[in-house]
Amino acid sequence: MKPTPPPVLLDASCLHLDSALQLLQQAGAVLPEAEPYSAPWLQALVDALCDLSSKDPLTGLANRRSFEMALSREADRVARSGESALLLVMDIDYFKAVNDSYGHGAGDLVIQAVAESIAHVVRPMDTVARVGGEEFAVILPNCAGEFGTVVAERLREHVSELRVEVASGQFLDITISIGGAFAPQWVRSSPLLWMERADRQLYRAKAEGRNRACMEAQIDSTVTAEEKGMLFAVAQEEAAGAALQQQERE
Ligand code: GH3
Ligand code: MG
Ligand code: MG
Repeated sequence: MKPTPPPVLLDASCLHLDSALQLLQQAGAVLPEAEPYSAPWLQALVDALCDLSSKDPLTGLANRRSFEMALSREADRVARSGESALLLVMDIDYFKAVNDSYGHGAGDLVIQAVAESIAHVVRPMDTVARVGGEEFAVILPNCAGEFGTVVAERLREHVSELRVEVASGQFLDITISIGGAFAPQWVRSSPLLWMERADRQLYRAKAEGRNRACMEAQIDSTVTAEEKGMLFAVAQEEAAGAALQQQERE
């Protein structure tokens, strides 16, 4: 059942939202169009501020900040559930040459086209982010080990089919290199380490000639039912101990 909204306790027009509006204006964000201080106007303002803090303005993808939060959440989830999750990091090949030959504006067009292409191939549940200038990352929860290379290859291939018009009638073929690593299951690992492992594979893909995907050999951290039982038993004992200590303190 939908919760009943709280009664309106204040007149919204007494809120001082000038700095929020100024911030949005400076960022070139779309300002709310509804009647100022009406409920739809306030909602549009909140939505615009959320977008500003979580999205990359050039591509509309998740920005580095929300990517890091999503990666941390996913690393925790994998440690708890033992589900398999894949991290892919990507970098456009020979991108400096695009900027140098056709200008920064053309470079931006290429970044936008690659972003769209990547987002088009993955599932809605995956997080696609622009994590640096011409660097992207995708977090794929619930992705089985055997699909790692398949997904990475599909992404690589889709981008390699792009022909971006950087000037009138002038088209560029674009490729990316991809590095991938799975989060270790049932083990609490840091998101930073997970990122470093995927990055290492990206460097390998660059070194081996670019326009390729390299995956880390998957660590076999499959836990037997008996070991899982022991892991849960330890966690339950710890939780019971903490509850007892809390009771004693009260
Ligand atoms: P590699 O194949 O090894 O990746 O070579 P590369 O030329 O792509 O080299 P690198 O990845 O180091 O290139 C990064 C370049 O991206 C340098 C920087 O000028 C450019 N860049 C960073 N952010 C932006 C941006 O927002 N727009 C544009 N147009 N260029 C950017
Ligand atoms: Mg780069
Ligand atoms: Mg590059």
